[in-house]
Amino acid sequence: MTSANGKFDPRAALADLRHEFGEHGGVNLSIEASTTFTVLEAETMPELFSGRVGPEGGCYLYGRHFNPTVYTLGKQLAAIENTGAGYATASGMGAIAAALMQLCDAGDHVVSGNTVYGGTFALLNSFLPAKAGVTTTFVDVTDHAAVERAFRGNTRALYVESIANPTLVVSDIPALAAIAHRHGAALIVDNTFSPMLLTPANLGADIVVHSLTKFINGASDIIAGAVCGTQEFIGELMDLQLGTLMLLGSTMDARTAFNISMRVPHLGLRIVEHSRRAMLFAQRLSDLGLPVVYPGLADHPQHALLASMVNEGYGFGGVFGLDLGTSARAERFMETLQNEHGFGFMAVSLGFFDTLMSCSGETTSSELSEADRREAGIPPGYVRISIGYTGSVEQRWAQFASALERVGAPV
Ligand code: PLP
Repeated sequence: MTSANGKFDPRAALADLRHEFGEHGGVNLSIEASTTFTVLEAETMPELFSGRVGPEGGCYLYGRHFNPTVYTLGKQLAAIENTGAGYATASGMGAIAAALMQLCDAGDHVVSGNTVYGGTFALLNSFLPAKAGVTTTFVDVTDHAAVERAFRGNTRALYVESIANPTLVVSDIPALAAIAHRHGAALIVDNTFSPMLLTPANLGADIVVHSLTKFINGASDIIAGAVCGTQEFIGELMDLQLGTLMLLGSTMDARTAFNISMRVPHLGLRIVEHSRRAMLFAQRLSDLGLPVVYPGLADHPQHALLASMVNEGYGFGGVFGLDLGTSARAERFMETLQNEHGFGFMAVSLGFFDTLMSCSGETTSSELSEADRREAGIPPGYVRISIGYTGSVEQRWAQFASALERVGAPV
């Protein structure tokens, strides 16, 4: 589980996994495409239904329950997240909703960071109160006294993003875990922005969720998610009476699991390059005196904190933000890059091999009211940039600098 220097390295953890060969000795795992599974003895069926036998013993029941290919992907993800188990879902939102609804019953309460992905905000702020009677108090996760004050007797979970979307505020996972645990609640960390570089479970998180749609898949061609946690928690998600994955049905398809599984081995390499380029661009923008936000920069408010939490060698992530003052200027900048230079795409999402850029306030954070966006620190001209690794660095920088010049930023 650790590298030679004794520190946790997710790539070493992945390599420690027993290799899953294909059915005929293939070097890649097989896709188990069956939706239903047979048994040799009829008496095994009730054992499967009662949960007395299951995937660890090589017994499977039905495709919406555990599937061998999805189970293998779950093990890869559990290895890099250093949790006892993991399971993949049809989307990141499927994972987040399943984890939250598994922990919370009607009438329960959640404390959440106030800068989270817009869909998560809407789930907590609008959907869960209306559909399940679960309410949420949103707080600034860097204000630990405010986080502590937000807890109530019925708080079941503290929900944060490791590096928040889109503000890049970094959560102090050990401190937040201590607060949650003092109140008997679980800490759920969305680690979508920082796979490999952060391992929240090593820092005290109880449950780690991912949108695999982003860096882990890396090709912007698959919507997917995952929940990583204890074997017991993953088992609860599949419970035939009360399991949110089993009953709300957001489990992943085997073909999708195979595709993503093929990209996990080079995730570490990709993250290193995303981080290297993000750092280089952010540093140059900072040197130009532009309002760039990147937690790898020494002047980022949580830089020292992030540096104290990261796994060595993966940098500080592939996303940075640039405040261009107004949404009109932000839009002109992105149009210039995409349409004149062929650099990147005006599109939501992140973690693609090419650059993706969006003006957060009018896109992925538009679920927040203007006041909530102000409170969360999302200015109207803020462009979130997920830097890709196509093209040469200097070619891309020249294009970036030219687009900045076009919109009147000093270069
Ligand atoms: N978590 C974060 C941090 C995200 O940015 C997103 C999507 O942008 C999600 C979760 C939701 O993931 P998905 O689109 O795979 O459902």
